[in-house]
Amino acid sequence: MKKNTLAVHGGNTKKDAYGAVIQPIYMTTNYRIPTDEPLDWSGTEIFSYARNLNVNQDVLQKKLCDLTGAEDCVVLASGVAALAGVFMTFLNSGDHAVVSEVCYSATNLLMRKYIPEKFKIDTTFVDTTDTEAVKKAIKPNTKLIHVETPGNPTTEISDIEAIAKLAHEAGAILCVDTTFAGPICIYPLSHSADLEIHSMTKYINGHGDSLGGCVLGSKELIKEIKQLAMVNYGGVLSPFNAWLIERGLKTLPIRMEQHSKTAKKVAEFLNASEKVRFVWYPGLENHPQHERAEKLMKGQYSGMIAFDIKGDEAAHQRFLKELKLITHAVSLGSVESLIIYFDKSSDKLPHYPEIFREGFFRFSIGLEDAEDIIDDLKKAFEVI
Ligand SMILES: *Cc1c(COP(=O)(O)O)cnc(C)c1O
Repeated sequence: MKKNTLAVHGGNTKKDAYGAVIQPIYMTTNYRIPTDEPLDWSGTEIFSYARNLNVNQDVLQKKLCDLTGAEDCVVLASGVAALAGVFMTFLNSGDHAVVSEVCYSATNLLMRKYIPEKFKIDTTFVDTTDTEAVKKAIKPNTKLIHVETPGNPTTEISDIEAIAKLAHEAGAILCVDTTFAGPICIYPLSHSADLEIHSMTKYINGHGDSLGGCVLGSKELIKEIKQLAMVNYGGVLSPFNAWLIERGLKTLPIRMEQHSKTAKKVAEFLNASEKVRFVWYPGLENHPQHERAEKLMKGQYSGMIAFDIKGDEAAHQRFLKELKLITHAVSLGSVESLIIYFDKSSDKLPHYPEIFREGFFRFSIGLEDAEDIIDDLKKAFEVI
């Protein structure tokens, strides 16, 4: 079956006792245990306790596997719980990890500060769009390469397949956080990555009403993450959030198609405007890794744009104030358009390419009509 069908039907076992068509929410912490076998207290295969496995989590995991072709999946309490789960599971004291210089703020803090300081793990941050730089950063004790692509917030694209090859030659695993593209525009596992992470808070749920994270990969690797991050650290996803996210996921392929179409139009508008200092969108020919994006993303470039306008700090703040339809807020991948400003004082800027260091906007294109989004931008441009 194709992806729209799988998004709607995947994971639904249709086993409800009353014949409910839509998967009901199972708000229960414990399940009756069959007495024909001894109990595995930390098992994640049978229903015993909701931190080991709960019905709505199971349905969501199966839907994600059906949709992506992944062998196995674990869903956790947030995208950050998924990231921390992977880092803590596959890194031990004395190990080394290579991480994308452009990455989510919690990835940056976890891998630059907390994990090295607490657990004596060595990390190197590199520009992973430069495959040679990744190669040079690898050490004999490198156990994990963590790549974010498209990078949040710059939209930079790394060569997943080439980095997977380097990782495997070095005996390391490659994990790709592809939250910016949902599991629709890029399937890292099909490009030889070992693990794929998504903040489900963003495109997968898509409605801005619940946190969640997932990791996709082989049964063997996912089982280890379940044991540590879920059963023993307790980062389990609640049945209610799993239900909301599974509900949102049904429309992911059609939402992504629309996000991509609208974002392309908005990016083209920004690109042509004399008020704009620069715009990066993987679907634009002037994006620094457009060719790589073309191969990876196959015509759907997601809804994330990075751009800046000309003018001083006051002009930037005025621009934000003038936006009426587009909301000034964090997060992304939701039905409504969201914009956030990284101003000059942000300590994140030194990690980004030169052009970003004067400040810029991260723009998440929602499901409104392109004409209305462009109209909102035009009106704000008129006053600056
Ligand atoms: C938002 C985000 C995360 C963290 O996800 P939460 O659900 O907020 O914990 C991780 N990676 C990327 C790329 C993100 O955009």
